[in-house]
Amino acid sequence: MKASEVLRAEKRPQAFDGWAEGEPGPDGQPERVCAAGCLWPKWMMLPGDKWVPDFVNELPILYPEIKWDGIIHCQVCFALAVGVEEQIFHLNDEHRWTFGEIADWLETFEVEVVDATH
Ligand SMILES: [Zn+2]
Repeated sequence: MKASEVLRAEKRPQAFDGWAEGEPGPDGQPERVCAAGCLWPKWMMLPGDKWVPDFVNELPILYPEIKWDGIIHCQVCFALAVGVEEQIFHLNDEHRWTFGEIADWLETFEVEVVDATH
């Protein structure tokens, strides 16, 4: 799935000011995730009940259709962000955009990917 599709399919409540929160659900994954947090398919809970994503898979590897690099001006407050990932956190935490709103915005960074498996 594309990153924008993952965001639109996310059913968990949205977390703010943190990637992931809450007790592990039946699938062992966090109860609540922020817009960046839901892009990681797998999370682990560290001692102290702190969630960390599975960093073996970096976002550019998981979602090669996104042009992740570059300087981005926030369209709401004109703040600068370095890269798409930083801006996802910003839209989630500072402007409280929904998963769907961030998905619409994220689509503007999608580029054609040559898929050699098809
Ligand atoms: Zn902003």
